[in-house]
Amino acid sequence: MKRDIYHQDHEAFRASVREFLNRSVLPNAERHAAEKALPREFWTEAGKQGFLGLHIAEEYGGAGTDDYRFTAVLCEELSKAYAALWTCVGIHADVTAGYLAKLGTEEQRQRWLPGVASGETLLALAMTEPSAGSDLAALKTTAVRDGGQWVINGAKTFITNGYSADLVLTAVRTNPEKKARGITLFAVPATAEGFSRGRKLDKVGQDESDTAELFFDDVRLTDEDIVGELDGGFVHMMQMLPQERLSVAISNLAHARQALDETLQYVKERKAFGTSIGSFQHNKFLLAEMSTQADVAQAYVDQCVLAHVRGELPAVDAAKAKWWTAQVQNEILDRCVQLYGGYGYMNEYRIARAWRDGRISKIYAGSNEIMKEIIGRELGL
Ligand SMILES: Cc1cc2nc3c(=O)[nH]c(=O)nc-3n(C[C@H](O)[C@H](O)[C@H](O)COP(=O)(O)OP(=O)(O)OC[C@H]3O[C@@H](n4cnc5c(N)ncnc54)[C@H](O)[C@@H]3O)c2cc1C
Repeated sequence: MKRDIYHQDHEAFRASVREFLNRSVLPNAERHAAEKALPREFWTEAGKQGFLGLHIAEEYGGAGTDDYRFTAVLCEELSKAYAALWTCVGIHADVTAGYLAKLGTEEQRQRWLPGVASGETLLALAMTEPSAGSDLAALKTTAVRDGGQWVINGAKTFITNGYSADLVLTAVRTNPEKKARGITLFAVPATAEGFSRGRKLDKVGQDESDTAELFFDDVRLTDEDIVGELDGGFVHMMQMLPQERLSVAISNLAHARQALDETLQYVKERKAFGTSIGSFQHNKFLLAEMSTQADVAQAYVDQCVLAHVRGELPAVDAAKAKWWTAQVQNEILDRCVQLYGGYGYMNEYRIARAWRDGRISKIYAGSNEIMKEIIGRELGL
C-alpha cells in the first residue's frame, strides 16, 4: 500500500541513512555480532552524519527538528539492516537523549547534549532490576541523602548499551514510603566511584547490541545529577514511554517487512518439484496473508506517527501499536523461516537471525501482556 506520511525531505534523509549503512555498517555486521556491541567508531560516525541529535537543539550540536518523522525514517532503515541497530541507537538518540533534552536544566543540557549528539557520550536507560521489570514501581535501588550528596546502592539488569555507556540515566528509589511517587531519575557517569558493570549478557538474538547488568555500590552524586523532578521519575517515565513504544512498533514492522521482501525473493528463486516454491498455492497464500498483515499494521502505525508529530498520541494507542506489531512481526518471521526450509535455521542466513532478533519485541519496552493491561484499563476494566 502506498504510504503518504513522508515527504521529499524525509526521503532525502532516508537516502543518507541508507548510504551510511551500506558504507559503514553492513560491511562490519559480522564484527558487531562477534563483539556483541557496536564499536565506538560506529557511534562517532553516526554522530558526524547528524543521526544522533535529530531532536537536540542546534545550540547543543543537534539538528533541532521537532518532526518525529525523521526519527521514524532512521528507525525504519536501521531496523531493516538488523534489529539491534535500532535497539541501541533508539535507546541512545531517541529515548534517553529525549529525557535529557526535555527534562534537563540548562546546565545539564550544556554538560551532556553535545557529546550525545556527536556520539562521544553514549547513553543507557536503566529501569529494570533483577526483581522489578514489568512492575517498575517496585524497584529497590535506593538513593539516600548524606549531607549535600546522594548515595546510590542497588543493581539493574538487561540494560541496552549498558556495557559501553558513558552516562546511565537510572531510576532510583528516593522515598521508601511512596511506591511510584518515590522514584527519581539520576544521570550516573560511568566514571563514578562505586559504579560497575557485569559481563555482556548472552542473548538469544540481537547479538550486536550490548546488554549488561549494572551495579551501584555507594555511588555518590549530587542534586545536579537529578534529571527532572525529585520523586517525579515514575511520572516522567510514563510520559516518555509512549514515544519509545511507538518507535519499537515502527522498528518491528520495518524489520518484518524487510524479512518478507527477502523471503519473497527467495521463494521465487528456490525450486522444488520442478517449480519455484512460491508458486505452490499454500505458500502463495501465506505470502498474501503476510503482505496483508504488514500493510494493515503499517496503516495504523503511520496514523500513530502522524498523531505523535501533532503531539496527540495517546499512551493507549502507542500500547496497541507496540503489542500488535510485535505479534505481526513474530508471525511473519516464523512463517518466513518455514519458507526457507532448513536454510532458515542456519545462522548464516539473515532470516534465521531476524527470527531470533525479533523475539524480544514481545517482551521489552513493556511486554505484550503489560500493553494489554494498559488497553484494558482504558476500556474501564
Ligand atoms: C534485550 C533486552 C534489552 C532490554 N533493554 C532494557 C533497557 O535498556 N533498560 C531497561 O530498563 N530494561 C531493559 N530491558 C528489560 C525489559 O524491559 C524487561 O525484561 C521487561 O520489561 C519485562 O520485565 P521482566 O523481565 O522482569 O519480566 P517480569 O516482569 O518478571 O514478567 C514475566 C512475565 O510475566 C508477565 N507479567 C508481568 N506482570 C503481568 C501482569 N500484570 N499481567 C499479566 N502478565 C504479567 C510478563 O508479561 C512476562 O510475560 C531489556 C530486556 C531485554 C531482554
